[in-house]
Amino acid sequence: MTEQEPNADVAITIPRGGGLHQFVLETFAATGHSPTMDQIRERFSVETLEEADAMVAELERAGSIHRNPGDGAITHAYPFSNEPTSHRVRLAGGPEVFAMCAIDALGMPFMLRRDVDIASACAGCGVEVRGGRVGAHAPSDVTVWLGDTSEGCVAATDLCPDLNFFCSPACREGWNRTHPEKRGEGLRLEDAVSQGRRVFEDLLYANDDG
Ligand SMILES: [Zn+2]
Repeated sequence: MTEQEPNADVAITIPRGGGLHQFVLETFAATGHSPTMDQIRERFSVETLEEADAMVAELERAGSIHRNPGDGAITHAYPFSNEPTSHRVRLAGGPEVFAMCAIDALGMPFMLRRDVDIASACAGCGVEVRGGRVGAHAPSDVTVWLGDTSEGCVAATDLCPDLNFFCSPACREGWNRTHPEKRGEGLRLEDAVSQGRRVFEDLLYANDDG
């Protein structure tokens, strides 16, 4: 069975924030981790942690990032995760970072204008899946599961946990048979790359010079 064309109404959009959003994404790309509240306070010359916290809370309300409810620390900023995930991405000339899901990993090279090397595991059988920027990947049959989106769904909690690589369409179908409650579709790798590009290409640096 072949994988399908991407569903036209897949609509994952990450709201683009201002300078703080850019700082958060750039800190992840430079260090592999989110900035601390102290770093944010310093960078934006904010007097108190409360003011810095209010800035971050606004970014969270917009849906660009997620925070730890306990201490307000930034845990996720699409496409990055501050906590380890099964999608490790080595940035060319930079650190290793964790992506929230397969499409987030595939979108990183477009967002950062940098080559990446993605290492993940097939969610069906655990076999290692590797991919360079767009071209080289292994196994040759790699596919991505994308769950159905619904009005108001939150990518981090509703989509990302199942948005994984599979080593082959057959392996994905096997997984789906044991998880019949999961609704969605298998994407060919090239279509998953296109989705990642569409979601992330203009998130950090706009293409304003043609
Ligand atoms: Zn597999």
